[in-house]
Amino acid sequence: MVPCRRRVAWLALGMMAVPMAVAQQRVSRVSKAPELDPQIVAAIKDVSPARVKATIEKLVSFYNRSTLSAADTASIAKGRGIGAAREWIRSEFERYSGECDGCLKVEMQSFTVSPPARRIPRPTEIVNVVATLGGTDPANAGRIYVVSGHYDSRNSDNENVSDPAPGANDDASGTAVALECARVLSKHKFPATIVFIAFAGEEQGLYGSAHCAEAAKTAKLDIAAVLNNDIVGGNRTPGDKTQEPQWVRLFSEGIPAAATPEQIKLIRATGMDDDSPSRQLARYIRQVAEQYVSGFEPKLVSRPDRYLRGGDHLSFNDQGFAAVRFTEYREDYNHQHQTPRIEGGVEYGDLLKFVDFAYVANVARLNAATLASLASAPAPPANVRLLTRNLENDSTLSWSASPGGLATKYEVLWRPTTDSDWSPQNTEAVGNVTQATLKRSKDNVIFAVRAVDAKGHRSLAVVPLPER
Ligand SMILES: [Zn+2]
Repeated sequence: MVPCRRRVAWLALGMMAVPMAVAQQRVSRVSKAPELDPQIVAAIKDVSPARVKATIEKLVSFYNRSTLSAADTASIAKGRGIGAAREWIRSEFERYSGECDGCLKVEMQSFTVSPPARRIPRPTEIVNVVATLGGTDPANAGRIYVVSGHYDSRNSDNENVSDPAPGANDDASGTAVALECARVLSKHKFPATIVFIAFAGEEQGLYGSAHCAEAAKTAKLDIAAVLNNDIVGGNRTPGDKTQEPQWVRLFSEGIPAAATPEQIKLIRATGMDDDSPSRQLARYIRQVAEQYVSGFEPKLVSRPDRYLRGGDHLSFNDQGFAAVRFTEYREDYNHQHQTPRIEGGVEYGDLLKFVDFAYVANVARLNAATLASLASAPAPPANVRLLTRNLENDSTLSWSASPGGLATKYEVLWRPTTDSDWSPQNTEAVGNVTQATLKRSKDNVIFAVRAVDAKGHRSLAVVPLPER
């Protein structure tokens, strides 16, 4: 599991009565685009479609990566089955680490699932491969950002481990994104921690990620965001004119899976059903794309996942973490979960030839830019409140300082309740204060606050809880 780092202070701080600096803020509009960070520009320039292709080819070469497939020494030596796949992923992480003076801590997070368990007919070891790029600032290293894909695959039959299950798109593509992010980001340093994970047991029911998310919750790890990549291959089915290679879908939950009945009541009362931490993360990613990845755009989808499907981000949502899913714009179901074959003139199978490596590289760029932005930025402000004691048309927000000491100022965002995103026009820089009063009615807008550092890195936005 990700190392049990010191729990970052913001949750704890949020509970304390921090004396409030009631500074009368100097308000200024923020309308120009934030400046680009040269380190982030360099990292995403380093993302290579050729490297992405090599990774996916290698993963496909293991023939069948079902979680139920072979993991014995002989099979690993032959390069067959899930055991060989995970050993190779570990060796890749270790290779990247060797090129950065051991900057990555590489671990196998292993546990056994025994029947009765859904789609697990016999006791099966499930192993997540985890690489951690520790944050360089002790005051911020406890804040963790995760990027993931699942390296297990399947064909038409859950228990078939003898026929090919190439899983080139589902989900060698997402695994390649996590690996490529590790490769390019490990050459740089960030104050907060980034964790790269290849999950197993996804196809049987999110076993690997569920275990990981539960362990993180138990260890009180401050996982501030999870970017899960599953089916990001771009689907190049010949003759398919409906794929949109400039778009990737970005799924995020609205009402958090982990919300208590009291929290749901509050969400309903305040109209905050479009403002979960996962939704703020999705909006953040859209902004990062505008800044750093030209010609490639996440299409935000306001639901946890597609119909009839799920993914590893949901395991993190279930434990109360902000987590989103990247998936290609249009999926071809003949090329997922299918034993390769030709039937009635139709080619079935999740084959290498249907993957668009340039597309996967764009998804990797967007993930890398997001991780680098978040891990460079201050922690979000804590304990964000909207004061609702009086009937008045001004709105006063208060918060505790961003823990970790990176913030040099704060911004208050607002949008009409019917708008789906923040905008630079509706953003006010309020200085290095912990309270701000805006001449704007809280009844008509949704507010949020974010922290900004001296170089312009911005934290995730936090919507306030009402305080009477
Ligand atoms: Zn998948």
